[in-house]
Amino acid sequence: MRLDGPESQNVEDRRGQGGFGGGFGGGRRGGGIAVGGIGGVVLLVVALLLGVDPSVILGGGGMGPEPQPAPQERRIDPGPSADGRGQPGRTQQAGSEDAGRRFIAQVLGETEQVWNQQFAQLGRRYEEPVLVLFSGATQSGCGAAQAQTGPFYCPNDRRVYIDLDFMARLQRQLGANGDFAAAYIVAHEVGHHVQNLLGVLPRVQQAQARASEAERNQLQVRVELQADCLAGMWANQAQRARNILEQGDIEEGLNAAAAVGDDRVTGGRIRPESFTHGSAQQRTRWFRRGLESGNIRDCDTFQG
Ligand SMILES: [Zn+2]
Repeated sequence: MRLDGPESQNVEDRRGQGGFGGGFGGGRRGGGIAVGGIGGVVLLVVALLLGVDPSVILGGGGMGPEPQPAPQERRIDPGPSADGRGQPGRTQQAGSEDAGRRFIAQVLGETEQVWNQQFAQLGRRYEEPVLVLFSGATQSGCGAAQAQTGPFYCPNDRRVYIDLDFMARLQRQLGANGDFAAAYIVAHEVGHHVQNLLGVLPRVQQAQARASEAERNQLQVRVELQADCLAGMWANQAQRARNILEQGDIEEGLNAAAAVGDDRVTGGRIRPESFTHGSAQQRTRWFRRGLESGNIRDCDTFQG
């Protein structure tokens, strides 16, 4: 990727603040709900998936009520491509926290440029999300966040949470050094913020409250596929405006989207009705649709 634009000013760096309670400025706090519960055994599996959305599971979209009790099930978000074909000179530097921080801030800055413009076209104002960098553990408006939970978006405090140590460890484990794959993760989480601002998350949560488990999962898949489509749409718009993509980036993004499909992740052992993020084929398809169209109207995963 070519990231020449300004860094976002919305990065809240909580690293080195020793875990819980550090620097939670002004946001709502979710009453100490343990999102935790994943043991070390599962860590590798989690590493393959990267990213949790307590958001939709915990309920309470927008600035809604306090989060519900801890989820029995933790759902995991898109992870980086494991294909390891990033370009050596330009990949995110796993060993360098500051390079990692700068990269994330630049990607976030790119999403701000795109979404400010897109919302303006809709006659609305884009409220930029805060992205929290943490190490180890921190508190979020959706409960405790830990490194092994991976990146997630919390609708209650409208923040994206990312642990750079975790990202770096993951890249070492998986050889996933593709910078665009990492950007896709950030763009997917920002996609959930866009869904929140547009009222999609609150509406889905209302519908989920009176749905069967299979229906709830189905709705969750639609939410995740839409965030993939919005991530693709972001890449399209940023490419048009600022030519950010380099050779291999699109493949990285598509591989990342496929690698985190529910069928891949579970080795095909889980029945489709229990999927909550979509199959590799679905995720790739929606990411590609956003990438090719660049138009939010083509990201209606609830219709098509
Ligand atoms: Zn997600």
